[in-house]
Amino acid sequence: AAPLLEVQELKKYYSIDQGWFKKNLEVKAVDGISFSVYKGETFGLVGESGCGKSTAGRTILKLNDPTAGGILFEGEDISKLGYGDMRKLRRKLQMVFQDPYASLNPKKTIRQILTEPLRVHNLFTPKERIQKAIEILEIVGLSEYHLNRYPHEFSGGQRQRIGIARAVILQPELIIADEPVSALDVSIQSQVINLLLKLQKEFQLTYIFISHDLGVIEHITDRVAVMYLGKVVELATTEEIFSDPKHPYTKALLSSVPISHPDEQKERIILSGDVPSAVKPPQGCSFHPRCPDCMEICKTKEPVTVQLSPTQSVSCHLYPKE
Ligand code: SF4
Ligand code: MG
Repeated sequence: AAPLLEVQELKKYYSIDQGWFKKNLEVKAVDGISFSVYKGETFGLVGESGCGKSTAGRTILKLNDPTAGGILFEGEDISKLGYGDMRKLRRKLQMVFQDPYASLNPKKTIRQILTEPLRVHNLFTPKERIQKAIEILEIVGLSEYHLNRYPHEFSGGQRQRIGIARAVILQPELIIADEPVSALDVSIQSQVINLLLKLQKEFQLTYIFISHDLGVIEHITDRVAVMYLGKVVELATTEEIFSDPKHPYTKALLSSVPISHPDEQKERIILSGDVPSAVKPPQGCSFHPRCPDCMEICKTKEPVTVQLSPTQSVSCHLYPKE
């Protein structure tokens, strides 16, 4: 089947104004990423903070204007669509944010928060909208009783359920969830993840799930793209990423999480050095200053993406193109 979403060489550069005496600095937050997402799957974007995964998510949904590249949604390139045309598409493309409190208007009741997207898109009568709001509240584990309450009256987990309800009420095609459980207590995280999985089944949703948490990524995703300094360094099925990672960065990331299969022995790889800044990414392979397998070529030549299997690709000189 054709992918629901095709991201092609997507770039998002920012310039940071340094004041009159210095040149503007360019930050290559997202620097040419490509992947496809298929209907009904959960596609993970994983990496350390600052790797560009959030910017990638926001740019795919056109909350940022892309600097270059294509975003094909249902076969149509939306990367250059203006505000008016995007407005119609918004219904199909929704976002769930990390901090539900910041993304829910504190002055609005849950009824207003949930019916607003329906009103904006001219769906249903006012009465039906309230009925829809009640339905979706029940689906996410809240009730009619909560309709006239304000966001501050809810716990963090409940607020995230409301944020999810607001995204799902439009029955979108694609939801990009950016660290949706990172701000929640561990005990609440799995409840919210199970809710996302339940909704996915019920509404045939497709997710892009952004997280730095490999445990969560392993649990919820079908395929994963590992990002480092604005680039995808490895892309594979979740199974392949966790059982047979190829990129030294993926291996290092995995070695730093607790072992989920105790029979496997894993050597912990310590990454030396801090994450370099996207303002001045290192030459060659941008991971080379931290890479335990760094070779001479890595310092000068940027690796190309090599397809290792139909489902696994990697950008690293350890895997030369035949
Ligand atoms: Fe390490 Fe070289 Fe591969 Fe980069 S290209 S990850 S430096 S081995
Ligand atoms: Mg982020």
